[in-house]
Amino acid sequence: MRILYIFPHPDDESFGPARAMAAQRRQGDDVYLLTLTRGEATKVRHKFGWTLEQMGEARYRELSNVKTTLDLNDIRILNLPDGGLQELDPWTIEKSIRDEILRIEPHVIVTFPIHGISGFPDHIVTHFAVTRVYLELQGPEHPWLQRLAFFTVVSAPAEFPWHVNVTAPAQIDCAFQVKDSDMDLFHKSLDCYVTYADVIARTRVHQVFDRNVHFELFREDQKPPFEDLSEGLGMSLIAPPGREKPASGREARAAKAPDPVRRVHWHPLGFAQIDQISGGIWEAEGADGRGFLRLYRDGDRRPF
Ligand SMILES: [Zn+2]
Repeated sequence: MRILYIFPHPDDESFGPARAMAAQRRQGDDVYLLTLTRGEATKVRHKFGWTLEQMGEARYRELSNVKTTLDLNDIRILNLPDGGLQELDPWTIEKSIRDEILRIEPHVIVTFPIHGISGFPDHIVTHFAVTRVYLELQGPEHPWLQRLAFFTVVSAPAEFPWHVNVTAPAQIDCAFQVKDSDMDLFHKSLDCYVTYADVIARTRVHQVFDRNVHFELFREDQKPPFEDLSEGLGMSLIAPPGREKPASGREARAAKAPDPVRRVHWHPLGFAQIDQISGGIWEAEGADGRGFLRLYRDGDRRPF
C-alpha cells in the first residue's frame, strides 16, 4: 500500500504521525511525505540570527534526516510561504498537491483534521486544499485513490504551552497501537530537529505521545474503529511493492468510462462535495478562490 502524508511544515510529521509512519514502513507499506513549506518562519531563527532563507535550509536538512531515520520512500519539500498559505490563491496550493498525488498514486492520503490540532491557519488551509483535491481526483480514473485520513489526537496534554484541538473519541475511525521500536524511531525523528531542540524539550513532545495513534477517516464512520489504515480497502487494487497488478480488462474499461454524473453541494468553508446522481453529465470547473464552483453541462460551457 502507498500512503502519502501531506503537511504544511517540516516537523508536522514528527509531532505525532512519525509513530504511524514507522509502523507502516515496518509492515511493508510505501510511505511518502509532501510538505508545502520549508518551515522558514519559525521564531527560533532569531536565536541563531538567521535569515528566512537560512532557516529554511536548516529545516530542509533536518527533514531530510527524518527521511533517512524513518526510511521513508520519498519526500518532497515545496517552497510555499510558511505562515502565509491563507494569503495564496488556493489553486496554487491545490495544483502542488494534485501534482504530487498524481506522481505517487497513493492508496491513502493523510493530512490534518479540520481543527488543525494546533489551529494554525496553515494547518487548516492544508486540510481544505487536500480535501478538495481528493474529491476532485477520486473516481474511476484514479482507482488507486481510496481513502483520506486525518491524523488527530483525542486528548490535550496537561500543562502544554500551546492550545490543542482534539477530536471526540466517537469521531475516531481508525486507532492502533504502535510497537516500542516505532516509538524509538519517532523519538529519533524528533531529535532530527536540532534547531528546535529547546522547543521540543519545553513542550515534552517525546512524552506527550504514547503508543496509541488516532485517525479520522473522511466520509467513513467505522465502529468499532479500524485497526489499520488499510482495513476495508479494495485490496485487489493494492499489489505488494514492486509487483503492481496490471489493470484487468474490466478495470481498464472502467478507467476509460466517461465521468459519472455529479451533484455539487457547497460547504460554508469553501469546499464542494460532489455526489453521483443520474441524468446528464455535469462538469465542475473548480473553485474561484472564494469557495464557489462554476458548473457547465455537457461541455457547452453554459453556467449552471
Ligand atoms: Zn505545522
